[in-house]
Amino acid sequence: MRVRFWGVRGSLPVPGRQTNRYGGNTSCVEVRPKGDWPIIIDAGTGIRRLGKAMMETAFGEGAGTASILISHTHWDHIQGLPFFSPFYHRGNEIHVYARQREDTHLMQIFASQTEDPYFPVPLSNLRAQIDFHELMEGTKFPIGRAQVTCTRLNHPWIAMAYRVDVDGASVVYCSDTAPFNDVLLEHEFIRTPPQVGGPLDPAIAAKLAAMRASLVQMCHGTDLLIYDTQFTPDEYRQRPHWGHSTPDDAIMVAREAKVKRLCLYHHAPNRTDDQQDVILDQYRTVIREAGDDFEVLCASEGLEVVLGDDE
Ligand SMILES: [Zn+2]
Ligand SMILES: [Zn+2]
Repeated sequence: MRVRFWGVRGSLPVPGRQTNRYGGNTSCVEVRPKGDWPIIIDAGTGIRRLGKAMMETAFGEGAGTASILISHTHWDHIQGLPFFSPFYHRGNEIHVYARQREDTHLMQIFASQTEDPYFPVPLSNLRAQIDFHELMEGTKFPIGRAQVTCTRLNHPWIAMAYRVDVDGASVVYCSDTAPFNDVLLEHEFIRTPPQVGGPLDPAIAAKLAAMRASLVQMCHGTDLLIYDTQFTPDEYRQRPHWGHSTPDDAIMVAREAKVKRLCLYHHAPNRTDDQQDVILDQYRTVIREAGDDFEVLCASEGLEVVLGDDE
């Protein structure tokens, strides 16, 4: 399979001279099993260019099938969806997967994104066949030859991590999540940041530990772990309730899960390319000095990682 990054940024798109090398588009990763239809993870603004590229293939003739796995429906993970060209061509078949909510059906969430006054074309006017699939954490399901697994993360209003196994290899997409130490993020907006490293209610600590254990188990032995590393440790200490991790947190999960490669992802919008270079160098030194045997990469737009039988 081939894993290609089309958008690597968190929060909002940040085009410009200082973000050109890593890229300014928001979250979107394409997983392409060998000779098969694409599995897209998240639909931030990066999906616009991916959609254009797909239109050069069978999707341009209305004969394509694609799946889109959504981690959660915050703007930076769905904002590109109304600009996804394969939606506008009759005959294409698109399957959208996301976590089931208690209050609203998934289709309604996406329909509201393109309602007046926000967008001119209602979802019901799109020409492709679009099917929505609601997921519960822990569900396993096939997409073509690929096997997909999901587990929940520690993020306001909850996000899902996905693992895709195909062609004798696997990739895990883990964005967005806070570490599992300081605060449990579910269905409320936490106004005041909790104290990092402070005491936790034992029931909450147990819930967080179970969530982390499921994630580590899902990541076990994966060839490529893509992880939300938006924060530096200092930034995390100021905003532990925002639901993002540091490279240190990602390294601990990668180490425990014995992954082969860790990819830093969901870069902070205010992080310049030069700052991102420094972070990558710093953490490559950290794992070298710790004697870890996995590799650390940093996601950038256009980066393609070839795994398994495609190698
Ligand atoms: Zn995000
Ligand atoms: Zn989010």
